[in-house]
Amino acid sequence: MAQKKDYYEILGVNKSASDAEIKKAYRKLAKQYHPDVNKSEDASEKFKEVQEAYDILSDSTKRAQYDQYGHAAFDQSGGFGGGAGFDMGDIFSQFFGGGFGGGFGGGSRRTASGPRQGDNRFMTMRIDFMEAVFGVDKTVKMTVDETCTVCHGSGAHSREDIKTCSRCGGSGHVTTQQRTPFGVFESTGVCPDCSGTGKTIARKCENCHGHGYVSKRVDVEIHVPAGIVSGQQLRVSGKGERGANGGPNGDLYVEIVVNPHKHFVREGNNINVSIPISAVDAILGTQVDVPTVHGDVSLTIPAGTQPNTRFRLRGKGVKDLRSDNYGDQYVEVKVEVPKKLNREEKSLFEKIKQAEGKNDSVFERFKKNFK
Ligand SMILES: [Zn+2]
Ligand SMILES: [Zn+2]
Repeated sequence: MAQKKDYYEILGVNKSASDAEIKKAYRKLAKQYHPDVNKSEDASEKFKEVQEAYDILSDSTKRAQYDQYGHAAFDQSGGFGGGAGFDMGDIFSQFFGGGFGGGFGGGSRRTASGPRQGDNRFMTMRIDFMEAVFGVDKTVKMTVDETCTVCHGSGAHSREDIKTCSRCGGSGHVTTQQRTPFGVFESTGVCPDCSGTGKTIARKCENCHGHGYVSKRVDVEIHVPAGIVSGQQLRVSGKGERGANGGPNGDLYVEIVVNPHKHFVREGNNINVSIPISAVDAILGTQVDVPTVHGDVSLTIPAGTQPNTRFRLRGKGVKDLRSDNYGDQYVEVKVEVPKKLNREEKSLFEKIKQAEGKNDSVFERFKKNFK
């Protein structure tokens, strides 16, 4: 096994860090290295490292073992498989759901038998530039677990069929001792007989076969409002992970990723676009039909327009997400100087030069400032 990095070092906290500090550091790094967000090559490796460090340091028993024996505590007992097998969805659901409030810490302190809301789910959805500007309705198919309507989530045929688990006495967890070359470790885990519910069922509900929920393939409608920008999230209530013991489902969070447009570039509710015009048009002025998301708009380029001048088309930007106001479109003029001239053009430009001949050229006037 390669030399493993120190878990505290990975999270960038010191050895006396509080649970809250560890949690905070973890969230920051996990977000930073999440492969959905971070496209660099080593992101997923870093993400796993961070995840593994957090798995150990967030668990007071494991942390104590690690503090005492280092990585050996886990290599020897085989108790920790190297951080594999976590579910991206779960990680993110914790960020975007109620996770910031208490989802993280709540995990280990959940009561065994009370109804509990399911975890939130997370997904990303890619939409086109124009869909973001004008809004779009999308339908995604997904499997959602719905609370069984017959037993209301208990999984039992009747109320009398629900018994207190004899193995854990209803607490939902059991304490086991593990002998290793480093001593005896005590750890508390979920009761294998009742899976932490603290109850066992004598006769199961026929409708859900004792699960308490029914998995359904459903169409989830996602209404994307006009004006949304990349990175914003939409919440779809009740389409997250199933609740436990009759608790409601978590929510579904959809993070929107907007594909860039070939020419339009959004800046908040404004849109920037560059248009090429010839040097002659910049000098003499012209009229152009500029593309906007709302269709072509006529724009007057006045005579003597300088390169990179920005014109504003008021109200031709994107509708504000929360009001009926529209942003503007900014049109930047790129003046193109011809690289080749035909004989006639060349002679005309030379005539212009001769006409200017009596006066100092632009450059000569500039040069005089140096004297
Ligand atoms: Zn049922
Ligand atoms: Zn039990």
